[in-house]
Amino acid sequence: MTFTVLVTDRVSDEGLAPLLDDDRFRIETIDDSASDEFEETLASAAGLIVRSATRVHAGMMSRASGLKVIGRAGVGVDNIDLVAASKRGIAVFNSPGGNTNAAAELTMALMLALARRLPEADRSIREGRWDRARLTGIELKGRTLGLVGAGRIGGEVAQRCQGFGMEVLVYDPYLTEERAEQLGVRLVSLDHVVENADVISCHVPLTDETRGLIDASLLGRMKDRVLVINASRGGVIDEAALAKALHDGTVAGAALDVYEREPLSPESPLRNAPNLVLTPHLGASTEEAQVGVATEVAGYMLAALGEGDVSAAINAAELG
Ligand code: NAD
Repeated sequence: MTFTVLVTDRVSDEGLAPLLDDDRFRIETIDDSASDEFEETLASAAGLIVRSATRVHAGMMSRASGLKVIGRAGVGVDNIDLVAASKRGIAVFNSPGGNTNAAAELTMALMLALARRLPEADRSIREGRWDRARLTGIELKGRTLGLVGAGRIGGEVAQRCQGFGMEVLVYDPYLTEERAEQLGVRLVSLDHVVENADVISCHVPLTDETRGLIDASLLGRMKDRVLVINASRGGVIDEAALAKALHDGTVAGAALDVYEREPLSPESPLRNAPNLVLTPHLGASTEEAQVGVATEVAGYMLAALGEGDVSAAINAAELG
């Protein structure tokens, strides 16, 4: 039996090698999900692999009567209708581990850029200045990092920061003491993080609990000269409150990779906020991570279609 797997959104071929090298699979790569060719292949596909651009809605699934597995090369599955997939018995997989290192390294890049004021330094030279005295930074060594969330990415950030000589405090109500001990971090309350950390970095999913978690009141209680970073999900930090805290100096510097609305609106108060480094959701944007997420999803596709193993599916519990 041959399984047709339709791949769209420019997923890395190198990562898909386990499927490409297996005779049981016929891989059809069609980047334009609005094309007739895509629709024709969809009708006979057993598997569909997407990144974030293609919206896999109920209508699309109804035109794919043989579809058994959807793979998302990346973490967020907000572009896939999970309820519709479960109703049709379609297993949905994502690839949460493939971009962990990329996101952790971007966090370090943002932290160092803030500590040494790199974007400002670059801008000042290009504007013809040589501002050495004004651009004095701070060192990470000896300072305290406060992590909000220490799962895969937060854990990697903790280890890198320990390498820089930082002490690491963690607020994560779901992290076990055992895991905290393994990571060499101290589990504390959110208030403790807010009042004691020199650098605060968020690595939580966006949930009802974390939406707006870092609000005006918490920002107001942070240490003088605190640096705040969010490369997790937009909405965890109240953007208007952060812009105000940067303007009035309550927060010394901040870096954001993710936003309440993406792309960031031209009217966002963040665009004019001082001491703020902005990147356009680049956390997973490395060559290695694109291969990593594709490899992970190819492995799940192989197990699900080849061996009938859907235990790692996000909706495994709903599949019966
Ligand atoms: P993970 O699931 O491994 O870790 C999340 C951690 O947050 C867990 O330890 C969990 O216990 C903790 N948590 C959950 N609710 C919490 C709460 N209310 N308060 C404090 N902690 C809480 O996830 P991960 O792979 O480390 O990813 C973390 C975030 O980074 C996710 O939102 C993910 O979507 C995002 N991400 C962003 C990029 C990017 O491009 N910027 C790339 C990859 C991942």
